[in-house]
Amino acid sequence: GVVVYWSRNKDLRLVDNTALSYASALAQDLGVPLLALHIFSPGDYAAHDRGPRRIDFQLRQLAYLKVEFAKHHIPLFTITQDRKKRKDIPRMLCEKLEEWGAVGLFANVEYEVDELRRDIEILERTKEARQSGKGFGGQVEFFKDFCVVSPGELLTKQGKPYSVYSPWQRNWADHVNSNLQDYVSQQNGPLLANPDSAKSHPILKPMFDHEIPTEIEGFELEGGDEEAKTMRHIWPVGDGITESIMRRFTHNKMREAKFFEPPLEGEDEEEVDDPKKSSKIGKYQEGRNRVDWDGTSHISAYLAAGLISPREPIRIAYKLAGSRELPAGRDSGIGMWIQEIGWRDFYQHVLCAWPRVCMTKPFNLNYDGTIEWATDDDGAKLQAWKDGKTGFPIVDAAMRSLKKQGYMHNRCRMIVASFLSKDLLIDWREGEKYFSQNLVDADLGSNNGGWQWAASTGTDPQPYFRIFNPLSQAEKIDPNGDYVRYWVPELRSLKGKSVHNPAATLSEKKIKELGYVMPIVDHAKARVKAIDSYKEASARG
Ligand code: FAD
Repeated sequence: GVVVYWSRNKDLRLVDNTALSYASALAQDLGVPLLALHIFSPGDYAAHDRGPRRIDFQLRQLAYLKVEFAKHHIPLFTITQDRKKRKDIPRMLCEKLEEWGAVGLFANVEYEVDELRRDIEILERTKEARQSGKGFGGQVEFFKDFCVVSPGELLTKQGKPYSVYSPWQRNWADHVNSNLQDYVSQQNGPLLANPDSAKSHPILKPMFDHEIPTEIEGFELEGGDEEAKTMRHIWPVGDGITESIMRRFTHNKMREAKFFEPPLEGEDEEEVDDPKKSSKIGKYQEGRNRVDWDGTSHISAYLAAGLISPREPIRIAYKLAGSRELPAGRDSGIGMWIQEIGWRDFYQHVLCAWPRVCMTKPFNLNYDGTIEWATDDDGAKLQAWKDGKTGFPIVDAAMRSLKKQGYMHNRCRMIVASFLSKDLLIDWREGEKYFSQNLVDADLGSNNGGWQWAASTGTDPQPYFRIFNPLSQAEKIDPNGDYVRYWVPELRSLKGKSVHNPAATLSEKKIKELGYVMPIVDHAKARVKAIDSYKEASARG
């Protein structure tokens, strides 16, 4: 027999991996070899609007893991499921497990509704097999691994799931602090090696030679080799990468952003003497609000695909803070940053408690089909937003950074999302989809949560009339205009913050001569229209 660890889209690592650690220990106990399996499911990628960059990142990491697993005499085998047969994975997998003589299957839970249904079907099939004595009837377990505090663990005093972030955050921080030792001392044991003989095991032997594909059909990088090069440069994988990204954040001095080129080894970076106070994490309260500084961790893609354990940020912050409590609050940079990790958990918990958010429904049912979105003939406005040609420089800069890097600063994500759903009054689901297709850190929970927050259809208790003003926001987060000048070269001749609102000082003719565009909406009028639409929708809902 063999023990099978099923590697998923969100747990691509060897260390502190709950299912892998369990499967590895069990294989040793039973004296049978461990097999690592990864299933590519293009049908699921399409259903989730998963983009080529996110998939390329995953393939690169799997190629790295293949080598690391092999060092432990463990094969990493992959299966590509037919695009039209994504719902057939449970049957296909159970047949394979039987063919391999597997004694058990272990994986980490993916909280999206289709994925949960798939796992339930596997549990049912194995149960039936146990009863009938036909087919794979071994042990099957799914582990909670993707969050610090897993969905379902925290409830309100009334025993209900939290629907509002602030009380969740307080309870989350208390919970983490009360169980701090569990988080700080890694609970998951290390990966244990198979005996040398695994390499000649009849089932495993050919799997060692199996190659990880470099592309998935239908999900090739649009920009070909050039884009592949950029992605490898900005989002590297391999030995020590996540440690190095985190160290830049926890020990290096804040500097002007190079807008992410390159993120690692930054030649002109220096370590500070008192990281708790003056490193990027130490100054996170200010740094996170400036797009022209390199003030955030850039760890999101690595957390989203599980290259780093969700518990690692807790350990890092705890060690750095040097106190018995984990700081989690607005009083310090470290505490503020830890709150963001709480946001990540919050959105996973929302996705689990209200699975309708995975099914293109708003969290707030008042807005279920009630908002009258603007008509956008031929989709020209949506296209202008995607292309970074709206005539609002901060929006355009941000959208261009997304296209080039597969990443966008959090402040900009909020601005462009508010702009699409309020100023253009275009269905937020169009924006969610485009983000998902283009972000390397794309994750349904955080992306959907962020979009519904901006579109006022989500958990945020603030009413719909919070509408970001892209011009005043731009002056706050990019006071000198450097970020905009970098991404919108047409405007490089404009000095200082005048770059944020060219239409205020330049004629339409001059703006066109520069190669730029006039604003596609009047923000003040659009704001009034959006408020009216939302007001009517709320009344209808
Ligand atoms: P840091 O500021 O260093 O934060 C540390 C970590 O905390 C992040 O890596 C991330 O895992 C988590 N985090 C931070 N802010 C949030 C947040 N608001 N919600 C949830 N988690 C958070 N984040 C994603 O990981 N994937 C997405 O698909 C995604 N889509 C978004 C869409 C919109 C419209 C908005 C407004 C936000 C979205 N975010 C998403 C959240 C946030 O913008 C990114 O996590 C952050 O910009 C990543 O940069 P960083 O790693 O430097 O973050």
